[in-house]
Amino acid sequence: MIRIPLNDIVAKIKDKTGLSEPDILAKVDQKCAQLAGLVSKDGAAHIIANELGVKLIEHGGRQKIKDVFAGMRSVELVGKVTQIYEAKDFARADGTAGKVGSFTMGDETGTLRVVCWGDQTNVLRDLQLNAVALVSNAMVRDNNRGYKEIHLNDQSRVVVNPKGETVGDVKVQERPQATRKTVKELNEQDQNVEVVGTITDSFNPKFFEVCPQCNKSAKNSTCAQHGAVQPNYSCVFNVILDDGTENIRVVFFRNQMERLLSKSTDELMQYRTAPDTFEQVRSDLLGQMVKVVGKVNRNMFFDRLELVSQLVFPANVEEELARVA
Ligand SMILES: [Zn+2]
Repeated sequence: MIRIPLNDIVAKIKDKTGLSEPDILAKVDQKCAQLAGLVSKDGAAHIIANELGVKLIEHGGRQKIKDVFAGMRSVELVGKVTQIYEAKDFARADGTAGKVGSFTMGDETGTLRVVCWGDQTNVLRDLQLNAVALVSNAMVRDNNRGYKEIHLNDQSRVVVNPKGETVGDVKVQERPQATRKTVKELNEQDQNVEVVGTITDSFNPKFFEVCPQCNKSAKNSTCAQHGAVQPNYSCVFNVILDDGTENIRVVFFRNQMERLLSKSTDELMQYRTAPDTFEQVRSDLLGQMVKVVGKVNRNMFFDRLELVSQLVFPANVEEELARVA
């Protein structure tokens, strides 16, 4: 199944019909209400696109990055290489060796990551930054963090600097400007909100197993998709953020935790085996003022709102004071 995010459906409808975004969203809400409970917002948006004769997916041939979606198979893309991540070996649970590496590429419509498995990682040695890469017969997946990525398999091909192919300026993906809110103003549906506050407490990080192949959570060295694996570890870290209106628990997953603490993955992993050494980190964090951009989640288990960090920065105190002055 091909999954197209709501924003992308709305953008396509806007593009092809000239309707405004509020108009399209109103139509979607109307359709949702009309089919009370039978379709999700995404589903309703698909129906609206269909009614307006907007084709959401172009099948076959060369695609632009903005037009590929998770679930598509045998896509062909051409882009400029923007980053290269060297291949790493990993051990599967059955003892056999696996290899995975990746690179990112972009065209004038966006950028995405290309994941190479096994012998496909050889291509990484031939790539240079700004080289043109032609990828064909590849699959598009969702990486579970809201980004689509290309996965290469045995049938996929990557040609480096193919004759006659050029790529224009790469469009740097930018997030839409986050909405600044106070903690008190946060509510359950908030996405891309920005909160500034002071860290008043924190908790010990929790480490958990992840599958080395798909990065999804693995339990007892078993991945739902890949079976028995030799797991890697990821972690989650919670702090209490107070902005004077109220406080909220902020959740940092591994890469956000790295940003918050300015530590590498390896450094974080040392706290797994030596948790006592984390005490210093916790006391250093107290009183730090940070800016967090993220989304609000209801933690069903504890029935409370939490802010899940997607970007974190040290707050600029002067800028904050100027704001309230
Ligand atoms: Zn897996």
